[in-house]
Amino acid sequence: MMEKFIPGLGKLRKNSLHFSLLLLLNSIVLASIPVTNNPILGGIAVVDFTTQHPNPKAFYNKIPLYVQPIKDQHWQVLIGIPLQEKPGKKTLIVEDFSTQRFYFEVIDYNYDEQHITLKNDKKKYLNPNLQHLDRINKERLILSEARKTFSKPALSKGHFIRPVKGITTSPFGLRRFYNGQARRAHTGLDYAGDMNTPILSAADGKVLLTGHFFFNGKTVFIDHGQGLISVYIHMNKIAVKQNQMIKQGEIIGTVGQTGRTTGAHLHWGVYLNQVSVNPNLLLKKNEI
Ligand SMILES: [Zn+2]
Repeated sequence: MMEKFIPGLGKLRKNSLHFSLLLLLNSIVLASIPVTNNPILGGIAVVDFTTQHPNPKAFYNKIPLYVQPIKDQHWQVLIGIPLQEKPGKKTLIVEDFSTQRFYFEVIDYNYDEQHITLKNDKKKYLNPNLQHLDRINKERLILSEARKTFSKPALSKGHFIRPVKGITTSPFGLRRFYNGQARRAHTGLDYAGDMNTPILSAADGKVLLTGHFFFNGKTVFIDHGQGLISVYIHMNKIAVKQNQMIKQGEIIGTVGQTGRTTGAHLHWGVYLNQVSVNPNLLLKKNEI
């Protein structure tokens, strides 16, 4: 057994050298975020371009975009497409040594409807009183400022991971009705989770915002750089502080039912160029 085992070890070492070379190669490739072009409403358009410029910038509707190097002079722009965007031909502006225009096509998508019933004290989320409205307006400003954050450099790479393991109870993009009244579409994914299940950061980043908001309840925003931001809402406990650097998979808090919810779950959202996009587009296929 020993004799067979020792040559095996030798082989293993050779393999592990091979393996670390592979890892090294992988890390070069994965210095970017792998996204497949999916230019539907609520999706991400991926546009490739080449330039010799060391730091090209890109804009859609005048909003700065996520730009990532692929290899050599090959770059890629990720464009979050608003759910309410008009389908058709769109213009992307790239600024390197001059201003270049690229065109891409936004494709229509018809998301399903979802009807939700709010009962008892949760009805305040449907018909907020004056005091609540005052709070909602103040919070709307804070949340929209956070969403406009565009920091450099990019803070994460590779695929995102699921923040909790539970099944998806509400997919992205549903057209929502509360007690029969139309409201904003569902701008994230809902994962089932028992109260106090740990929530993991989907990727490396920096805590941009924490707080307890009227609709969102206890909330954490994580900045991944260049306008890519993940949000975690309806939490029970928040375990991180603003400006804290976070690693992928680190616990940021626990599942709860604060804010406009009908039960304990995690709502996970992703912003890209200030637009809510389907978070599934950043996960490995087998994690969806
Ligand atoms: Zn949700």
